[in-house]
Amino acid sequence: MDENRPPYRPLTDTPVDQPDERRRGVVRVEPGQPFEHFCPDCGRWGTFGFGSDSIKGIPGVWYCAEHREAGERRWKAAGGLVASGD
Ligand SMILES: [Zn+2]
Repeated sequence: MDENRPPYRPLTDTPVDQPDERRRGVVRVEPGQPFEHFCPDCGRWGTFGFGSDSIKGIPGVWYCAEHREAGERRWKAAGGLVASGD
């Protein structure tokens, strides 16, 4: 273990399976912190990701189970898959 690792700082003290306005749409990619992604609609933990590509460093958009369908429709309407072949 890396002892110089900064301590984990949760965004809010609300459990991740609870809605939280302050976390809506937050995708956090920070050195030393876990990759965190919250639903843009409610602020719960985003289980279903669209457009995420860890190799390219694209965090994507993440939705909870409740908003997954709406999120997927929105994602496809906005152009679908990850842009490629630029
Ligand atoms: Zn949600």
